[in-house]
Amino acid sequence: MAKLSVNDLDLQGKRVLTRVDYNVPMAEGDGAMVINDDTRIRATLPTLKVMIEKGAKIILAAHLGRPKGERVDSMSLQPVAEKLSELIGQTVAFCDQCVGDTVTEAVAQLKEGGLLLLENVRYHPEEEANETAFAEQLAANADIYVNDAFGAAHRAHASTVGVPTVVTGRGGQCAAGLLMERELQFLGDELESPDNPFVVILGGAKVSDKIKVIDRLLEKADTIIIGGAMAYTFKLAKGFTVGKSLVEPDKINVAQAALDKASERSVQFLLPTDNLIAEPTEIDGKFAFGDYRVNDCENIPDDMEGVDIGPKSAEAFSEAIKGAKTILWNGPMGIFEDSRFAEGTYNVAKAVCEATATGAISIIGGGDSVKALNKAGLGDQVTFMSTGGGASLEFLEGNELPGVTALNDK
Ligand code: ADP
Ligand code: MG
Repeated sequence: MAKLSVNDLDLQGKRVLTRVDYNVPMAEGDGAMVINDDTRIRATLPTLKVMIEKGAKIILAAHLGRPKGERVDSMSLQPVAEKLSELIGQTVAFCDQCVGDTVTEAVAQLKEGGLLLLENVRYHPEEEANETAFAEQLAANADIYVNDAFGAAHRAHASTVGVPTVVTGRGGQCAAGLLMERELQFLGDELESPDNPFVVILGGAKVSDKIKVIDRLLEKADTIIIGGAMAYTFKLAKGFTVGKSLVEPDKINVAQAALDKASERSVQFLLPTDNLIAEPTEIDGKFAFGDYRVNDCENIPDDMEGVDIGPKSAEAFSEAIKGAKTILWNGPMGIFEDSRFAEGTYNVAKAVCEATATGAISIIGGGDSVKALNKAGLGDQVTFMSTGGGASLEFLEGNELPGVTALNDK
């Protein structure tokens, strides 16, 4: 069932408590905290603009980092208020509390179309514990609740579940923001009934992180492509040697079960047939990779580690991707953070963009995959990039997200 949208609401003069994901990377510079990447702030602008146009009094609630229930100055949202003011072109007031009298006073000052950002909700241990009394305090100044923080929707916290429960309980509306709506549309609806051929590309470090996603998508996909370190546990299951590659020997049976399910369902299952391999060594007492080369062979030598897919695999993967109508990609093909081992990921990225240019829908989930795509300068050539790391993975597994469930249906 579709969720109520911010577009459906009459917001004129209403106080709207809006949960956003402003958990942005920061670093200290010149004695102040500086925002390194404002993607998450920009991602909320469409929702904020709609609410401003509708004449809402907008109260923003968010978390930053892991202050563990205490006030930690380096995790204050104050710099975010400044950044948001700049991006949206109007003053965003900041309140150094998220509950209590100072909040009530600040909300009373809000004009229609005005914005107020509250301090980090995780300064209070009651946030993560989802304590009802705290949720009631957070909800005290709100007529309506909007959640645009998809990246926090897999957590049942006071600001994601407690507040909408309180607001719904008093007959108020609880709706999804535009970003949340898009996440649900692409990671939810589009993948529920994808246009075929549906090609799923999975990579990254661990089979255990993604096995539930593999298992669910084996029921929908025409082709599953596996790269990254994950591939080596599958190679072990198939009886190949993997040298010093990152593997999970206790997941060989799980990998085998996925291979069996794929063959029962006639799902094409592609694993790399060649790899880039490197020698793990110590340089100045620190772990490093020494010599590296293409290993044009299914087996990896004992002293070497698989660090990327090889050129033959990249070509075979690209060929499969080119025929797709729907593509889901989660997880890089190699240790892309090291530019020597990024080629495989970039080649797959190019194939995904080419397929998109000829009409395929491409959906990218996973923090590192999004990073890799942006690093390749291709972020704007796919249909959708998810903003939620852990939340997207849980959603792709087919789980209900508590922060979504708590919103009203249409
Ligand atoms: P995402 O965030 O997109 O879901 P993951 O977090 O699952 O992706 O995995 C990303 C990590 O996997 C990256 O840090 C990358 O270096 C690592 N990785 C990919 N391939 C390998 C490999 N062959 N060996 C070790 N690590 C790998
Ligand atoms: Mg990751």
